[in-house]
Amino acid sequence: MKITFWGATDQVTGSKTFVELPEGIILIDCGLVQGPENADKQNLENLPFKPGQIKAVIITHAHLDHSGYLPRLVKKGFEGPIYCTPVTAKLLKIILLDSAKLSDEEFYTQQDVMVTDSQIKSINWNHKTSLLGAQFELIPSGHILGASSVVIKANEKKIIFSGDLGRFDDPLLPPPELCHEANLIVMESTYGGKLRHGDYHKDLHTFLATVAQESRVGIIASFAVARAQMLMSLIFDFYQRHPEYKVRVILDSPMMKEASKVYKQFSALTQNQHLVVSAMEEFEVLEHEREWESLQKKSGPLIIISSSGMLTGGRVKRHLANWQNDHKAILFLPGYQGEGTPGRAFLEGERTIPFNEEENIHWTGEVWGSEAFSSHADQAELIRWLENVDKKSTICLVHGENLAKIELKKKLNELHYENVFIPKREDVKLV
Ligand SMILES: [Zn+2]
Repeated sequence: MKITFWGATDQVTGSKTFVELPEGIILIDCGLVQGPENADKQNLENLPFKPGQIKAVIITHAHLDHSGYLPRLVKKGFEGPIYCTPVTAKLLKIILLDSAKLSDEEFYTQQDVMVTDSQIKSINWNHKTSLLGAQFELIPSGHILGASSVVIKANEKKIIFSGDLGRFDDPLLPPPELCHEANLIVMESTYGGKLRHGDYHKDLHTFLATVAQESRVGIIASFAVARAQMLMSLIFDFYQRHPEYKVRVILDSPMMKEASKVYKQFSALTQNQHLVVSAMEEFEVLEHEREWESLQKKSGPLIIISSSGMLTGGRVKRHLANWQNDHKAILFLPGYQGEGTPGRAFLEGERTIPFNEEENIHWTGEVWGSEAFSSHADQAELIRWLENVDKKSTICLVHGENLAKIELKKKLNELHYENVFIPKREDVKLV
């Protein structure tokens, strides 16, 4: 087998790796480049193979940085099957339709997403599937519902792609399945240089109790898929145990509503099915304009969960605009805030963001962040994932900022993993 590294080598996003199997070329993940200023240009760059030459794609999970380029690939001539788990297939459709709405018509449209959806072949975890003279299977990797690592075998050789790895103490999901022995391991390293700090229970409970006791308005900016469903489950659980703190909670995000349905449908894959089902049914969803109008006049105690998680757009802004003069209101940011985003600027003290082309929002309330929420394995957990692997195996680190990859490599070398590499774009490995 021959691997060509492409996306997520010099940065975290845009995951794309080509694998030449005995009978054709496949692509592992097909992500969008997000964040850097030249992201749009990078997303339109030519790939090393023509889309028509690629025989199949395997998607590890639904996040845009692993899947968001798929409709573009289809639009440009890719006609083969797209393999992923049944949950990923459902979440993909929701996320890609939203992405099409936000992207340029030239790049791809909702119609391209529907064609992409028709090429999906869902397969369950641990189901061995033949593909182009090789065999592959998906195994659970935690992270978000349905996320997988990929194991590929051909000619007595084995390669494992970690996909994004989840934490070992995730409140909803089982821990990632440990890595098997393999000739080559391609591993994510988002938190390769860091140990996670803080306690998400404590941070969330302090927020919930403060809103209730002091009759405040709390606005939670959350990613619509996975983070929101985790928050809903944790809030539901907290209110069960502390009914004295229960206040009205409203969701305002159509995508959040759709993703919650998928979490409910596949709740058996979580560690607490009963909790997830109850939580997905519990909270009010803002559906109509008149509900929004009546909400605008409300004072606390009240909690609103809306997206986007980094304040880059979405309906969360209308809530910030509405309560911007309420000094007691709290904006809670329970997620990573990327460099250059308004969320990061708010955490660093900025209080003004554009609302629309004419108006700005000047937030006078409080801003609370929490670093404890993360759906990625930290450095210790990445090392734990490798504990069954021979120290002589070849390990390639991708999907991390340079410093994170260098620190993880250093740590692995200290632990006597001898063959750790940081591939660059277009690097090739033969297995
Ligand atoms: Zn991810």
